[in-house]
Amino acid sequence: THSSNYRGRFAPSPTGLLHFGSLVAAVGSFLDAKHHHGIWLVRMEDLDTPRCVLGVADDILRTLEVFGLNSDEPVIYQSQRTAAYEDAMAKLQSRGVVYPCGCTRREIADSAVQGIEGYVYPGTCRSGMRPHPNPDVTTSHSTTPAHPQGAGRGCKADESATTTHSGQVAGYLPMGEGASAIRIPAWRVRTDRFPSPQRGEGLGERGGSFDDALQGLISQNLERDLGDFVVKRADGLFAYQLAVVVDDAAQGITHVVRGSDLLVSTPRQIWLQWLLGLTTPAYMHLPVAVNAAGEKLSKQTLAAPVDMAHPAETLWRVLAFLRQEPPTELAGDLPNLLSWAVQNWQPERLRGLKAMPALA
Ligand code: GLU
Repeated sequence: THSSNYRGRFAPSPTGLLHFGSLVAAVGSFLDAKHHHGIWLVRMEDLDTPRCVLGVADDILRTLEVFGLNSDEPVIYQSQRTAAYEDAMAKLQSRGVVYPCGCTRREIADSAVQGIEGYVYPGTCRSGMRPHPNPDVTTSHSTTPAHPQGAGRGCKADESATTTHSGQVAGYLPMGEGASAIRIPAWRVRTDRFPSPQRGEGLGERGGSFDDALQGLISQNLERDLGDFVVKRADGLFAYQLAVVVDDAAQGITHVVRGSDLLVSTPRQIWLQWLLGLTTPAYMHLPVAVNAAGEKLSKQTLAAPVDMAHPAETLWRVLAFLRQEPPTELAGDLPNLLSWAVQNWQPERLRGLKAMPALA
């Protein structure tokens, strides 16, 4: 029974099996939703299809099930949501806040200053894409994604394209190198202006600040710290920032609980919510689990998959990481451990914590 309007979610990217760090985000978001008698959803962020691994989405869902973490509504897959992202893009276009950009990484690096996430984009193409020595450069915008999805579930990535992490799809020729390559523009959203009517009073900074339930006031000046950012990539895929905003709104998400590694993304998401006229949910960013070298657990840092043979012990460690202190007699009793944690959820114990060592 759901006696509140709370709607939360866990949104894994099926690029690898669940590890301790992703389970922390799953459990944290679940506990917060259920403590508030809310709905909890799982959404598969298999948008970045070349990085997705066949079967991983199903594996993640099975793992969650073992821990008693079941989505209250059917799982949605970002790979099936292209039409919704196209709609949002059309809206941004009609409001005049996006523009095509054909700048290469090299060109951006040449002219820009270091920001909070790589180089700040200096707005080079705001007033139109520059003429380019390459005769084949195209400014035409195709609404067809470069990687149309099949009707099946989960990732449909072809194996040969699963290993690049640079945003470059295998087989796609980077510009500047091959004279015959056709450059499809990326689309960037302006960070310097609102469409009318003017909204977002009280923002102070552009793109702004928000009050995180655990991390306090987070402030960014999008234009200065990041620059106009990509909402549709040159390879035709929509950017995570746009997809997550569209989906959180479509699913009526009221509370986003996720790892602090995404704190840096939240101002961009709030900015897009404003531009699209969408409601901003409440945000709570949990500490991320790091390894002995201080790196966030991830597929890249070769984090071990969650121990499925002893799920109650694993859940105990997750709760200990989240600084919850279940009574010892519940050790080994997964269902009761989980319901204890729901009832006694005290996220404020994590206030200000951004990263902590994983508990093995
Ligand atoms: N899919 C993202 C990730 O796995 C998380 C998105 C989110 O929670 O907003 O990092």
